[in-house]
Amino acid sequence: MEDILFNKNFTCVAVSKTKPKEDIEKIYNLGHRDFGENKVQELEYKYNNLPQDINWHMIGHLQSNKVRKVIPIVSLIHSVDSLKLLKVINKESKKFDKVTNCLIQVNISNESSKYGFKESELDFLNQESMSEYQNIKFKGLMGMASFTNDESVIKNEFNNLKNIFNNIRKEIDDFNILSMGMSNDYKIALGSGSNMIRVGSKIFGKRNYQ
Ligand SMILES: *Cc1c(COP(=O)(O)O)cnc(C)c1O
Repeated sequence: MEDILFNKNFTCVAVSKTKPKEDIEKIYNLGHRDFGENKVQELEYKYNNLPQDINWHMIGHLQSNKVRKVIPIVSLIHSVDSLKLLKVINKESKKFDKVTNCLIQVNISNESSKYGFKESELDFLNQESMSEYQNIKFKGLMGMASFTNDESVIKNEFNNLKNIFNNIRKEIDDFNILSMGMSNDYKIALGSGSNMIRVGSKIFGKRNYQ
């Protein structure tokens, strides 16, 4: 496990959703600082009850009416999945006088996921339209592969996202995070150029729900 937590070639976000704070403290005490949550309420609770130098990652679908609560807490939002949400994050960040780091979630598995931009909807990611979002820092892309045992399908989807990422990268300064790979497919994702993996059950053990 330590080989994925402390690897200088990529960042591992330890996905602690549903797990008690004691479990997080164990990993924190090894020196790890990046943790991911998918529910706003749980994120708030853990933020308030764990050390302040943790980098919290919001990885789950975010409702517009909860953005306000997340802005002061997060170091990176992985799950920006609509222009509407992007605008709300921009507006709310302004109120906190903050620039929020965001990844744009891309739907690479088509049928199996309901969240994320389609490849054809990413035209807004160019240096010119960035100026509309003064309080957002566009850091990169996030994607989830299909839930399948067919590795070639997963590999194709990750390679596709890597190509999309490389193209957008040419347009935007400092656009350098590619968040892809979970417990079951992070090895494939790293082979396809991921530099940020989100790993839950492999670190914390199986979840009973969610
Ligand atoms: C739960 C979750 C993960 C981690 O899943 P594991 O299979 O436990 O590694 C990664 N990304 C997102 C968006 C998740 O919701």
